[in-house]
Amino acid sequence: MLSEFELIKNYFVRARQGRAVVGIGDDCAVIAPAAGKQMAISSDMLVEDRHFFAGADARMLGHKSLAVNLSDLAAMGARPLGFTLALALPAADPVWLEAFASGLFALADEFDCELIGGDTTKGPLTICITVFGELAPGQALRRDAALAGDDIWISGALGDARLALAHYWNEHRLSDAALAQAAPRMHAPTPRVALGQALAQGQLARAAIDISDGLAGDLRHILGASGLGATLDADALPAGPVLAQQDSDLRRRFCVAGGDDYELCFTAAPAQRAAVQEAGLRTGTAVTRVGRMETARGLRLVDSAGKALTLKVAGFDHFAS
Ligand code: ADP
Ligand code: MG
Repeated sequence: MLSEFELIKNYFVRARQGRAVVGIGDDCAVIAPAAGKQMAISSDMLVEDRHFFAGADARMLGHKSLAVNLSDLAAMGARPLGFTLALALPAADPVWLEAFASGLFALADEFDCELIGGDTTKGPLTICITVFGELAPGQALRRDAALAGDDIWISGALGDARLALAHYWNEHRLSDAALAQAAPRMHAPTPRVALGQALAQGQLARAAIDISDGLAGDLRHILGASGLGATLDADALPAGPVLAQQDSDLRRRFCVAGGDDYELCFTAAPAQRAAVQEAGLRTGTAVTRVGRMETARGLRLVDSAGKALTLKVAGFDHFAS
């Protein structure tokens, strides 16, 4: 049986560490902020049976645990620097740990984000990561910074993660091929880190949020914080390739109120349209203009002809369900 310290040493301490002044092994990690930069810090917790199914693939779980955190840095426009990992495990299973660490570190290396500390305990499987990133002062993409008249943009595509979940919940059956295409969007989301940084550094976007609980619910946080309303064109929303094959009602519903998309929703002045498109091209991320910020409070949905739509568009709330 692995001891706690062997477990940390075998699976989480890596040969090449350098970002922290003091890394794993002391009471605290010590990091030196770059001169003139600010730090962006965020935590996200994944709990078995709440955020993922029991028996979920450990490699994808390693990826997703860090991806959802990197997505928060992306939504702020920050550059990832490091993270801590607090882990409760029912048992020290070497096969599980090896797979979890490989998924985690593959993504960490892709975004040059170093594991600098954490905590390990026995308990029901729970993964809590805290990420640290850096920003130039004044460049954070805040939720309260949208202005009336701003365009609303979405990165990538929406709804395929929710569609995979609908399959697992027996809400909507998918063919094996469709499930194989949609499931990675749920299990292994792509954080839009390069786009977020480009939007912040170029001062192209005003407000941003990452879509974890469904577009409508998350956009409402921007509306509330900025004291504004919005109209969304439901038919302009970029559906994922699998959702795009489904009927228009399901397509609209899962685009507007899906979940687990980890795309960015951001606002930008109409004068920035070309620059936003260029930032999308430069970072290899599709960007689609889907609506407009308005002074009239509330969220309105219209179809491509401008006709009002009524959809039940509550966001996901852990304590309401
Ligand atoms: P403490 O008793 O001060 O909480 P621990 O004994 O829990 O310290 O941890 C020892 C060292 O290992 C610390 O530097 C801590 O940050 C690190 N650590 C513990 N668990 C993890 C983990 N899952 N991933 C990375 N580092 C970890
Ligand atoms: Mg500890």
